[in-house]
Amino acid sequence: MSAEEKPAPPHPQDELLRTERFPHIWCPGCGIGSVFGSLVSAIQKGQFPLDEVAIVSGIGCTGRMAGYIRLDSFHTTHGRALPFATGLKLAKPNTKVVVASGDGDLFAIGGNHFIHAARRNLDVTVLCVNNLNYGMTGGQAAPSTPFGAKTTTSAVGNPEEPFNFCALASACGATFVARWTVLHVRRLITSIVEAMNHRGFSFIEVLAPCPTSFGRRNKIGKPIDGIKFFHDRALIKNDIDPKDAPLDYTKEIVVGKFVQHERPTWTDNYALVNRKELGDWPNLAAKPEKPEKG
Ligand code: SF4
Repeated sequence: MSAEEKPAPPHPQDELLRTERFPHIWCPGCGIGSVFGSLVSAIQKGQFPLDEVAIVSGIGCTGRMAGYIRLDSFHTTHGRALPFATGLKLAKPNTKVVVASGDGDLFAIGGNHFIHAARRNLDVTVLCVNNLNYGMTGGQAAPSTPFGAKTTTSAVGNPEEPFNFCALASACGATFVARWTVLHVRRLITSIVEAMNHRGFSFIEVLAPCPTSFGRRNKIGKPIDGIKFFHDRALIKNDIDPKDAPLDYTKEIVVGKFVQHERPTWTDNYALVNRKELGDWPNLAAKPEKPEKG
């Protein structure tokens, strides 16, 4: 370094980044970086004690988040982020556990784990980056791939309808559900803070462009055109039933904070049955109407 050159000033997020692992693997124009930055900002904004936050991810491009964040973080096997998070939460109940993974990992191989974690109201936050395909493995069709879209495994068009992940989460029992795109950074950060403070299973879907694997095959254009694609279609509707917010890319993309309510968490109910005060089923006289705090 010459005498005139000065070292780069520290970045405000440096304390939470494993910069020694950079450059990261994400392609130019990928939306995952914006979601990762929003997660880091939310952890800082929420002032969560850093030794009480853990990040768990599965396999895929989004799964790399766990490798780049300077926290207790766990890059687990494909589809198994939620079983790992379940064990972590039960062993360390005061830890804020955030599962950050992609649509293929969470809803294909991990789909069964997702529906049961939501049903149990496991007190974790799931941040799902939905890039409409399996990006890392070359662009195969996923449970999120729109009808008619081209992928390496649907070269003439996807014959399947995709899941509405938010409706699925809500129907399975999630008590916090939101959807944003990578354009909605401020709202996304607010939602992540709210979800991490929420007691129960919280789910946030973030629509993100994958210019390399999905955008290229579907003639979306340059990475900026993938962002414009969301900009031109996004419509915010808060507090609606997510089943009324299907992802119809030919018309509009409904985003918003759809659901937030309380019900006992899995650990609440474990504690309840272990106190042996329930009485005999079906006359569960001792069952509290509201969850106990704590
Ligand atoms: Fe992002 Fe797609 Fe590249 Fe993966 S393949 S890093 S999702 S642009």
